[in-house]
Amino acid sequence: MEETIFTKIINGTIPSKILYHDDLVTAFADIAPKAPVHILIVTNKPIPSVEHVESEDELALGRLFTVARKIAKEQGINEDGYRLIVNVGEHGGQEVPHIHMHLLGGKKLSNFGF
Ligand code: AMP
Repeated sequence: MEETIFTKIINGTIPSKILYHDDLVTAFADIAPKAPVHILIVTNKPIPSVEHVESEDELALGRLFTVARKIAKEQGINEDGYRLIVNVGEHGGQEVPHIHMHLLGGKKLSNFGF
């Protein structure tokens, strides 16, 4: 399977502003931020989407939340609040087929504009 762009970031093949890395997940700045704080937290395992998760992935998926909380605090947005988004598939607006959580904040975000 060809490496995803996020696997290349995790491996350091593509440069990125890495904020966190452990055995299960990696966090880095989104290249096209949609808010003052826009960070992606990805599983190191290249799971294509939520439609491909298995029970063996539960630890890594849970880690996305604990790392989101840690980074929100580091970024100083934990008290005002923030948004976590996981896009799934074409209708969900997912562009990169490697499961990831968006951490967005730093301003009052508008409600969903469907
Ligand atoms: P999604 O639409 O949920 O798949 O989100 C993909 C996100 O990846 C978008 O917000 C992009 O701006 C971001 N992105 C794409 N390429 C890079 C990159 N090289 N470094 C950081 N973020 C990226």
